[in-house]
Amino acid sequence: MREFGYQRVHDVSGAVALRGADPEARYLGGGTNLVDLMKTGVERPAHLIDVRELPLGRIESTPDGGLRVGATVTNSELAAHPEVRRAYPALAQAVLAGASGQLRNMATVGGNLLQRTRCGYFADTTQPCNKRAPGSGCPAIEGEHHNHAILGASAHCVATHPSDMGVALAAFDAVVHYETADGPGELPLAEFYLPVGDTPHLETALPSGALITGITLPPAPVAAVSRYRKVRERASYAFAIGSIAAALDVEDGTVREVRLAFGAVASRPWRARTAEQALTGGPATAAAFAAAADAELAAAEPLPHNGYKVTLMRNLAVAVLTELAEEAAR
Ligand SMILES: Cc1cc2nc3c(=O)[nH]c(=O)nc-3n(C[C@H](O)[C@H](O)[C@H](O)COP(=O)(O)OP(=O)(O)OC[C@H]3O[C@@H](n4cnc5c(N)ncnc54)[C@H](O)[C@@H]3O)c2cc1C
Ligand code: SF4
Repeated sequence: MREFGYQRVHDVSGAVALRGADPEARYLGGGTNLVDLMKTGVERPAHLIDVRELPLGRIESTPDGGLRVGATVTNSELAAHPEVRRAYPALAQAVLAGASGQLRNMATVGGNLLQRTRCGYFADTTQPCNKRAPGSGCPAIEGEHHNHAILGASAHCVATHPSDMGVALAAFDAVVHYETADGPGELPLAEFYLPVGDTPHLETALPSGALITGITLPPAPVAAVSRYRKVRERASYAFAIGSIAAALDVEDGTVREVRLAFGAVASRPWRARTAEQALTGGPATAAAFAAAADAELAAAEPLPHNGYKVTLMRNLAVAVLTELAEEAAR
């Protein structure tokens, strides 16, 4: 590991000013991703700005009935919060499906959003990788890609975003708030992660040096009947090979509102808007759920070794939406 500076900050403007003064600096949340990447040489910050003591550690109701979650709230605190569990149960389930208890005690909301891909070539500095070293190539396309993207990828990168939390946030239209030297800003999650295109190293629309200060969850009554389901290669302590966040409101057998987002299939949490449109106003039946999933997955472009994800996501969508329809009918 290379030498680096370390500074703990206590106010947001001080954090942003420090970061602005040093382009080689990085914010440090729980360090559960950044420090691992520093050990392997993927990240080489000259300076760490520890943000954990910033006054961003609260979860509060908003006047319109939504929730505001500070950037330094830990994953454990988020999953345990009574209002999160009541109003957005899929979010609590998604967070609890990630990592381990010890990691969730350290990991923060801001860091979770910005965690990097688990593509093995990205983590291995002896390999080419367009995301880590732009223009060097993407060995995953011809190589090991069984857990890579089937939607929205490009010829330059087929990596997936690993966050479970982000999938639920996508389903619930979360908004990311940030601070820069020029003042505060916000980005809907749908615009937060950039399309891969030919610039896979540019992952988010955050301005350079921006500090994430929190997220807001707009009020969404539909979210009260929601679920997160994650499929992985072992029962715990593993990243998803496919996951779903879903919420469903059914009246007299007809879908009034549905939210659906897929995880581990794209470079970002994938909001399944085509499937949502296909379902809204139609019957809440397994056949309709399957047809909607097929419509969404018609855009899939699987690689030779990850075509199984198309079937997996279709089956996950049907299973979870069927469960939610049964729950709504009770
Ligand atoms: C063994 C293991 C298993 C895991 N399994 C899962 C899993 O199954 N599902 C899952 O979703 N995740 C999993 N994770 C990832 C884990 O969720 C992330 O490492 C964690 O959420 C990152 O949060 P952090 O606060 O530790 O971020 P850090 O490591 O501190 O930072 C990550 C990035 O975010 C930046 N950053 C941090 N805070 C801010 C801020 N406020 N503003 C701007 N930038 C900021 C940092 O500069 C860095 O670039 C796993 C991790 C490990 C090590
Ligand atoms: S998939 Fe993306 S992260 Fe993985 S090797 Fe290719 S360019 Fe790098």
